[in-house]
Amino acid sequence: MATALVIGAGIGGLAAALRLRKKGYDVTVYEANPYPGGKLHAIQLDDYRFDLGPSLFTMPHLVDELFTLFNKTPEDHFRYKQKAVICNYFWDDGTRFTALAQPAAFAKQAAETFRESEQDILRYLENSKKKYDLTAPLFLERSLHKINTYLSADTLKALSALRHLDLSRSLNSVNEKYFDNPKLVQLFNRYATYNGSSPYITPGIMSMIPHLEMHYGTYLPHGGMHEISQSLYRLALEVGVKFHFNQKVSSIKVSSKQATGISIGNKEIDADVVVSNMDVMPTYRQLLPKEPAPEKTLQQERSSSALIFYWGINKTFKELDLHNILFSNNYREEFEYIFSKKDIYTDPTVYINITSKDEPSDAPEGHENWFVMINAPGNYQQDWPELLEKAKKAILKKIKNALGVDISSHIQAEYILDPRGIESNTSSYRGALYGAASNNQFAAFLRHPNFSRRIRNLYFCGGSVHPGGGIPLCLLSAQIVGDLVANPS
Ligand code: FAD
Repeated sequence: MATALVIGAGIGGLAAALRLRKKGYDVTVYEANPYPGGKLHAIQLDDYRFDLGPSLFTMPHLVDELFTLFNKTPEDHFRYKQKAVICNYFWDDGTRFTALAQPAAFAKQAAETFRESEQDILRYLENSKKKYDLTAPLFLERSLHKINTYLSADTLKALSALRHLDLSRSLNSVNEKYFDNPKLVQLFNRYATYNGSSPYITPGIMSMIPHLEMHYGTYLPHGGMHEISQSLYRLALEVGVKFHFNQKVSSIKVSSKQATGISIGNKEIDADVVVSNMDVMPTYRQLLPKEPAPEKTLQQERSSSALIFYWGINKTFKELDLHNILFSNNYREEFEYIFSKKDIYTDPTVYINITSKDEPSDAPEGHENWFVMINAPGNYQQDWPELLEKAKKAILKKIKNALGVDISSHIQAEYILDPRGIESNTSSYRGALYGAASNNQFAAFLRHPNFSRRIRNLYFCGGSVHPGGGIPLCLLSAQIVGDLVANPS
């Protein structure tokens, strides 16, 4: 039986292992951490459970698909609940808005709250769908780097519609074209952060992202986000994928321009196929130091990182739901701080995620588990203790303004993760959440392909390569790797 080695058990690595197993490979995963999941991990702080990384889950069918691939009923192994409310938004002037998942209901309420035309909002959402439908087959579901991709009817359709995709203007300018109310513009600008980019730079094609939430819906898995990686890990074990934890791969073996296996210290392991789920930067710098690296790709600006306070709160808040946003008063300046000054803004947008709203066992009765996150610059060796102190003060002030409560006296447990921790936990270069940022119009083409152009039998999956970061795209990267391994030409 042909053999495949996967480096890293992040969501992309787990999915790639399953895809290759289905194709008949004997698959072994080597993971540096003592656990599977990478960024999709969880912690227990006293009686509070927290998901450590992702909190927003959309396109759950991409997880289900992996169960059906092995003739299993997804609901028997992985269950999730759809949310009727996408997010609660708060502004400092007292404006509040509850974004409903259903597009018509969303448009009606947004029109009332922001005094905009309901028709314009519906038109915006229709345009979002159109952009997604046109581009997903080209930009998300196939390798962008194989000639075959450009010979399909779907691709030709997408290419002929390029001028409608708003590639040459920013997301902010597209949103300003539709709406006068700066708050509604800000709400739609926020979608740039779903891939760690700035709405003032990222191309307008990103206005397709709201379609994902409104069409596919937003979900929370039973057991929390961690269940996504855990259920796939259990499936992988069941179908015969082998795992080795606490095994940091030290190099990829290459002979005659072909990957022949990996080494871990003095131990060498041979394989027919090698898949790296590691961030592409350390894959080249640490595992392939003698091979020429695609420097232009590696030099792409990295996505934003995050600073997260995990707080056990001895109080409940009716006005909050699973996803809540307290917006900055100057969004443009906040992104300048993140991407240009590499600093924490004094009035940051604060995201509060509370899984105990839907999973009561995540916190004791009368308490809540708050995941409080602000977007942050990558790790450029800033003075993080100082930035953390500054961020905490700004966050507490923002919460007091929105909810009228000084939350500091309600914090019973605390854990903090900053870009340094994100980087060291998963080898994510500069602690980027989503690999490279989409802060230019060619970003999609500049991401690393899912295969090596120079080394045969070496493949790449996960958030730092095509089609990009975030759970759905990582799952798609694994699907593309599966297709490429089966049909490398
Ligand atoms: P990773 O999770 O990056 O894992 C890579 C694995 O490789 C790690 O387990 C690492 O230990 C291992 N590894 C590295 N080097 C080696 C080595 N030398 N040998 C062996 N193993 C190695 N996405 C969403 O969809 N929704 C969200 O709401 C969301 N929010 C986020 C919030 C935070 C705080 C973070 C950090 C991320 C968030 N993301 C979100 C992004 C999402 O988590 C990632 O895009 C995705 O999980 C990355 O998966 P991956 O397959 O690239 O692997």
